[in-house]
Amino acid sequence: MRAARPEVSFEFFPPKSDDGFAGLLRTADALAKYKPDFFSVTYGAGGSTRQGTFRTVETLRRHGHNAIPHLSWGEESSRQICDLLGRYQDLGVSRLVLIRGDVPSGAYAPTHYASELVQLVHARFRDTFRTYVAAYAEMHPQAPGPSEDLRRLKQKLDAGASAAITQYFYVLEAYRRLVLEARATGIVKPIVAGIMPITNYERLVRFSDSCGAEIPRWIRCRLTELADHDQALRDFGAQVVTDLCSRLVEEGAPGLHFYTLNRWRATARILDGLALEMDRHGSSAKGAAT
Ligand SMILES: Cc1cc2nc3c(=O)[nH]c(=O)nc-3n(C[C@H](O)[C@H](O)[C@H](O)COP(=O)(O)OP(=O)(O)OC[C@H]3O[C@@H](n4cnc5c(N)ncnc54)[C@H](O)[C@@H]3O)c2cc1C
Repeated sequence: MRAARPEVSFEFFPPKSDDGFAGLLRTADALAKYKPDFFSVTYGAGGSTRQGTFRTVETLRRHGHNAIPHLSWGEESSRQICDLLGRYQDLGVSRLVLIRGDVPSGAYAPTHYASELVQLVHARFRDTFRTYVAAYAEMHPQAPGPSEDLRRLKQKLDAGASAAITQYFYVLEAYRRLVLEARATGIVKPIVAGIMPITNYERLVRFSDSCGAEIPRWIRCRLTELADHDQALRDFGAQVVTDLCSRLVEEGAPGLHFYTLNRWRATARILDGLALEMDRHGSSAKGAAT
């Protein structure tokens, strides 16, 4: 066991209104104290938030935050993708999260796997951008099996991506296995752990069902019991996720990527708890300590 200092990053989605933007800036300001490596902004497959993603990255950067975009390749031409990347380069963006994207039902079939986008970016822009791709501790829901999913992850990393970020998970063993199996297949690049704070039972179940993340029975039972006790549910959620992060850090996870849903309190609470935990063990989480 070793206590390392992981990278910390926070994920946002593009707000739809001016109020949403104001709220997001407050969130970014509040989370900036944890000195994240970056704030990332999601992208709607099908281009539904293409403008929203750009505007959000631009706005956050204008306010001094290192915001980077997620990008997927739908029906656009490779030239349109490269034009967009040129605009990001002009903003000073040096990292990208490259994903296939989830398609709004019935919109269109995904046209490009993430590996194709990684290939395009590195063929046209060489090493201008440090790129991140998605990984799945509990397997991508559409993959035929875990080995095939891992092979596809390796393909993305071999195509030039620098690191992977996992879908969120609550079963530590699933992440451990992913890392072990990745190392066994020759993947040496970092696999950052995706972290979803727990603040609302119904929303968590909805997300988890759609992305294939397991909520262990002991957590489900407790959340059901606390469904009408908002504060107690948040306290329990913070404890569970802080404990998960603490173990991830102890075991040397290279980074923690928080799915913030544009809110800061639950994430800040976890990072504060983690800093205390790490202090007790003679080390500290990067966000709180540096
Ligand atoms: C860190 C992170 C960030 C995300 N950000 C966003 C976002 O901004 N917007 C959004 O819409 N969604 C986002 N997602 C969700 C993601 O887009 C979905 O999980 C999507 O269904 C798969 O994306 P991917 O990049 O993993 O796809 P891919 O790596 O392309 O894989 C998709 C599926 O196809 C399989 N596969 C891959 N290559 C091939 C091939 N050549 N032949 C056959 N099968 C293949 C894989 O095993 C997998 O089952 C994110 C997920 C994560 C973990």
